[in-house]
Amino acid sequence: MSDMVEVESKHAPPLAECVNCGHMLPPGLGEVFCEVCGAGCKVSHEPTIKALQEEKVPCPHCHTILVAGTEDRPVDLSCGACSREFTLTPKIVKVEIDCPGCERILRIRPKPGKRQLNCPACDSSFHVTF
Ligand SMILES: [Zn+2]
Ligand SMILES: [Zn+2]
Ligand SMILES: [Zn+2]
Repeated sequence: MSDMVEVESKHAPPLAECVNCGHMLPPGLGEVFCEVCGAGCKVSHEPTIKALQEEKVPCPHCHTILVAGTEDRPVDLSCGACSREFTLTPKIVKVEIDCPGCERILRIRPKPGKRQLNCPACDSSFHVTF
């Protein structure tokens, strides 16, 4: 087993919509391809890019604070203090959906297109589209 440790980034760009079909695009920056219609869209969000480049992450091995220096995620960083490496991974974006049956809030990872959700509290199932 490798000792590659993963650290989740604290920043993510806001969810963008496909300019062609209006569905949600997969998370990411730069050229992103719509999973529904296949159109390529340019996603750019200056404040997030800046935040990602300047993101400070503690080395999981020795807790020295490192600066990411790039908006790419995932990115492998090597620590100058202990010379070990770790991977800075993209932040996992979740959205909150109100259950139409019982008002419970479900937190899910959005996926482009239509999907069915089952509420764990009241057993109703419903569809959401991103
Ligand atoms: Zn599309
Ligand atoms: Zn270190
Ligand atoms: Zn419910």
